[in-house]
Amino acid sequence: MICDKCRVLCEGTCPVCGSARRLRESDPSEPAHLITLNATQAMLVEPVLADTGVPYFKKGSIGGGLTAQIGMMREMFRFFVPVSGRERYREAIEAVFGEDAEVMRLLHEFD
Ligand SMILES: [Zn+2]
Repeated sequence: MICDKCRVLCEGTCPVCGSARRLRESDPSEPAHLITLNATQAMLVEPVLADTGVPYFKKGSIGGGLTAQIGMMREMFRFFVPVSGRERYREAIEAVFGEDAEVMRLLHEFD
């Protein structure tokens, strides 16, 4: 199941917004939330994602104009990948950041 609002894959209720009503069957090609990272972590992890060859996109938590004022380092980035490619991404991140407890925690944040 996927939450229509947060795009988090889950069962029962969404761990992000707590809604059960918004859950529906996921489509293999639609984007699902992979991981949320701060700017420093995103800089390290993004090249690993790019290397997998599966499409992904990231969304900053703050709008473009505000980022410059508040500061890049405080921005959080949410990464989304197709449902069907999600396991490949997770394995790629685990292969490189398996020793990084914080990245591993974030990768499994909503499991
Ligand atoms: Zn949700």
